[in-house]
Amino acid sequence: MTRAVMDPTIAPPFPVAALTVLRDTQLRKNVAHATDVIQAKRALLVAEKKDWQQLRTAAAAIRAHALANLGSYLEEFEKRCTEAGGVVHWAADAAEARAIILKLLREENATEVIKIKTMTSAEIQLNPALEAAGISVFETDLAELILQLGGDEPSHIVAPALHVNRGQVREIFARRMGLQNLSDDPQVLTAAARTYLRQKFLSVPTAISGANFLVAETGSVAVVESEGNGRMCLTLPRTMITLAGIEKVLPKFKDLEILLQVLARSATGERMNPYTSLWTGVTPGDGPQRFHVVLLDNGRSQILARPKERQTLQCIRCAACLNTCPVYRQTGGHAYGSVYGGPIGAILTPQLMQMEHAQTLPFASSLCGACYAVCPVKINIPEVLIALRAQVVDQERGQPARWFDPMFLGMKAANVIFASARQFRAAQWASRVGLSLFTGKDGWIHRLPGLGARWTVTRDLRGIPEQSFRQWWAARDKEQM
Ligand code: SF4
Repeated sequence: MTRAVMDPTIAPPFPVAALTVLRDTQLRKNVAHATDVIQAKRALLVAEKKDWQQLRTAAAAIRAHALANLGSYLEEFEKRCTEAGGVVHWAADAAEARAIILKLLREENATEVIKIKTMTSAEIQLNPALEAAGISVFETDLAELILQLGGDEPSHIVAPALHVNRGQVREIFARRMGLQNLSDDPQVLTAAARTYLRQKFLSVPTAISGANFLVAETGSVAVVESEGNGRMCLTLPRTMITLAGIEKVLPKFKDLEILLQVLARSATGERMNPYTSLWTGVTPGDGPQRFHVVLLDNGRSQILARPKERQTLQCIRCAACLNTCPVYRQTGGHAYGSVYGGPIGAILTPQLMQMEHAQTLPFASSLCGACYAVCPVKINIPEVLIALRAQVVDQERGQPARWFDPMFLGMKAANVIFASARQFRAAQWASRVGLSLFTGKDGWIHRLPGLGARWTVTRDLRGIPEQSFRQWWAARDKEQM
């Protein structure tokens, strides 16, 4: 199984990481199968909604309005949540969010914590920080549990273990749970996970969750999930800590009616999620009696300030853009070097991590627009990709000339070649002579040296024809005279 580097500050550039993944045929099969299944379910359920496009328009408008008035809605959320008995904390970045959560856990004398699936906690690398502080973390979402026990990283926003098949799950459970006679029957595997987790639900008094939405009007947190593990975490522990990006806020409770419809259909191809949990502060005798919300900025305010890129924050993490993306479907999520993979990752990660850390990601797209077509909140991902590409190019313009970089040299050469027809013809002639040395008897070029190898490592190149288009055109003109 391919192991991933999910920290964009140290992850390899996308083309390097993708090359490793492309060689893992099992992983590619797993990703293709899983995304095909989810896409087919989504298509069926979207087709049955005659007002799907209106729903998308409404969902996009709600999210855009929330972002345009983010400051006031966040303040309203804080006020309502506090009135209901919750405590709201503000974290400017990942380090501050980790420090706040660690402090809260120390106040609880926590040595163990159970978690509902949260991509935001992976964004701030929370688990390693807690483990380093001596606090054992137990993921309770089945996919997250598989990854945690397998020492693996998420590769999909909604189905984080989508790259793992059931035979691999059986091997992980057998090894880590000491169940050597386990079969790979999904029901048997789920039962094993259930037994393993049940004792944690009953014994660990502190839980951490993410949030699908925060409702400003009521101060509520909403989490949708499919397994009931979230509901267990929300009812049994003494203390709940919710970590949420500041962009998750919705103005009104009734906005959930629209957002939950488009989210369930887009994410898992269901009419509604099996479990939709909402909690508002603290209710004596019912659920956690201490409740904290950590609101995370971590670069989001900067995104908000950029008119074109701001739409990135409308995302409701449904992953429909991942499932349809021809690049993601080949590479899976690990190649993106961040918890956010696929098209949304290609625009979100470079902005959250600053361009210098993830500048290859905006180029991990064919700009086909499939992501835009399925996005339930109408994020024009190609438009943002192009804006980010322009920023990368602008940054590179300011750099000193890289005379040892083959790509830089290639671009300089192209600059000269395309400057005049005579130079272009001369280059064409030189290419024909040069490439003829590498053209096989079948008329195809299968392997090129140097910079050209970047092309032939993944595809073949048709040999240069005897006659160029210009030559054919000139000959045709002569014949007609
Ligand atoms: S960008 Fe759109 S399609 Fe992609 S995860 Fe976000 S909401 Fe879903």
